[in-house]
Amino acid sequence: MKLSVDVVRINLFDNFSNLIHASSPRYFKNTSDEIEQYDFVGRDSSEKKTEHLIRFMETVKIKNKPPFLINQIHSDEIFILKDESQTREQVSKIKADAIITHLSEIPIGIFTADCIPVLLYDPKLHVAAAIHAGREGTLQGIVNKSISAMKQEYGCKPQDLVAGLGLGIGGCCYEIDEKCLSSFENKIPFQPPFVKSKENGKFLLDLFAVNAQQGIDAGLLPENILRSEECTFCSPMNYFSYRREGKTGRILTFIMLQPR
Ligand SMILES: [Zn+2]
Repeated sequence: MKLSVDVVRINLFDNFSNLIHASSPRYFKNTSDEIEQYDFVGRDSSEKKTEHLIRFMETVKIKNKPPFLINQIHSDEIFILKDESQTREQVSKIKADAIITHLSEIPIGIFTADCIPVLLYDPKLHVAAAIHAGREGTLQGIVNKSISAMKQEYGCKPQDLVAGLGLGIGGCCYEIDEKCLSSFENKIPFQPPFVKSKENGKFLLDLFAVNAQQGIDAGLLPENILRSEECTFCSPMNYFSYRREGKTGRILTFIMLQPR
């Protein structure tokens, strides 16, 4: 088997200097030259989890620095990492689905497998966010709330922010039933690009479009919203997909500010 992807980036997000970001693919080549799956869940051992996190970070030249990760619970809770003395261990216990920081050299990340990872960056004030926007988080407006938190905490202006929507399940594949769709009532118009009807009586929901719209509603400029064009469900060889596989691995998406 040949590896087609070793690291995934959100188009154009790398135009910013003083910032590193990436998402992990499904497979990597280990030291014995074998193809192995990234295991960030740590089903086999938590040692392996840390080893794989470090290993992935090394593919983007970040040495021995696993990301700061929160305890994701499909909520709209936001954690702001302001205190440099907080450890990875402490942060990993915080229940939240978005993490924001102005601290340099501290990678902040989130795990997904179909849910949309959203990165926000303020190039003027040098503040970054990593957001887990699944169906629940999207429904609760987590992108919108993260923008408000950046505004409140750091004085960020929404029109200065750049958003990157990473690897997630596309509107091509994310099928939902009527009950699920009804939970979005009054939040989005039930029409393309947000929702498409299927012949089987179900619907296709485009979480990318919904989150992009939330960003626009919160004051982001449409041209500052960048998105990955890839669908996790469509690419079993490259990415994990919860919808496709049930019990599966996770994609890590992180952002790290560098000093400027
Ligand atoms: Zn798809």
